[in-house]
Amino acid sequence: MSAPRLPPLPTIRDILKLYNLSATKRLSQNFLLDENITNKIVAKAGNISGGQVLEVGPGPGGLTRSILKKIPERLVVVEKDERFKPTLEMLADSFGAINGKMDIIYDDILKTNIENLFPLDKKRNWNDKSPDIFIIGNLPFNLATYLIIQWLHAISEQRGPWAFGRTKMTLTFQKEVAERLVAPPMGDQRCRLSVMAQTWTFPVLRFIIPGKAFVPKPDVDVGVVSFTPLVKPRTQYDFKFFERITRHIFNFRQKYSIRCIETLFPKEYRKDLGLMTYKLADLEPTLRPTQLTIEDINKLATAYKYLLEKHPELKLYNYRTSRHLLPLSNTKDIIVQDCAEI
Ligand code: SAM
Repeated sequence: MSAPRLPPLPTIRDILKLYNLSATKRLSQNFLLDENITNKIVAKAGNISGGQVLEVGPGPGGLTRSILKKIPERLVVVEKDERFKPTLEMLADSFGAINGKMDIIYDDILKTNIENLFPLDKKRNWNDKSPDIFIIGNLPFNLATYLIIQWLHAISEQRGPWAFGRTKMTLTFQKEVAERLVAPPMGDQRCRLSVMAQTWTFPVLRFIIPGKAFVPKPDVDVGVVSFTPLVKPRTQYDFKFFERITRHIFNFRQKYSIRCIETLFPKEYRKDLGLMTYKLADLEPTLRPTQLTIEDINKLATAYKYLLEKHPELKLYNYRTSRHLLPLSNTKDIIVQDCAEI
């Protein structure tokens, strides 16, 4: 028996005209009308046939159609702009006509509880292969980086769609951001985002979509990135703690990384404690931030954690808000003692 097919539909271009739908800058709307490209994005998401799919920001539904053609068990779309109601409802009806299930949520993806969207029988153990749940989205540029950081945090705590196992995501970003997400150490693009993405997932830059493929055409090209959560993250530390250190490390990209680590400490102890962190981590202080591997950053995190445990008052220090010295009466003595121990 041949696989069911969607009934014929008007083209997205015709639909945009019919409902007088123009892109809204405020919602970072750039539509993909080329079916070859939307099919290619879906192909990179994995075998979605019979699976549960969440699409973020379906807009007029170009990518949505490519998803539906693969006949998932169920598709849920989350769209903030209700102007797309007629076109999305048309797609849901067409899919319904072949016994498919498509649900539409008109809401902000940041406010939507996406854990409740999937059936419990899809749950897999974290160490097993990924569940049949897929997240796909041609994301709005103004949201993409914020959203991926939120989702990496959720992955690190196995929350939301990651309470079901190592759910894969296939998402679009501005080309420059996509390149940063996958940038290895030593490269110019290496930054906090590269480290955070690669600590909890295996991100792959699948292909580049030229800006001219979008309507309206953005000023930049777009990269399609897939993320598979790692069975074992490359740090044992929680997301916020690891992010704090990573953020400090990339504060001054061109300087020696020790200058960045020093900013974790109050001014008067900065030199000593910075040096001590590098001694404990067994790393060269002259390494530049972009030269550090995730394992190096993890060693620095371990050293910093050790110092925090020895001198809990250091936890109170905040580089951005601090104007004056902290009253660390005996810290200098302890530091000297610690240095002698190393
Ligand atoms: N998927 C469509 C395509 O490929 O042609 C549209 C992509 S467009 C770049 C981004 C879509 O995300 C728009 O439809 C926009 O309305 C929607 N969007 C923007 N912010 C959103 C948010 N916070 N939550 C849900 N959808 C959002």
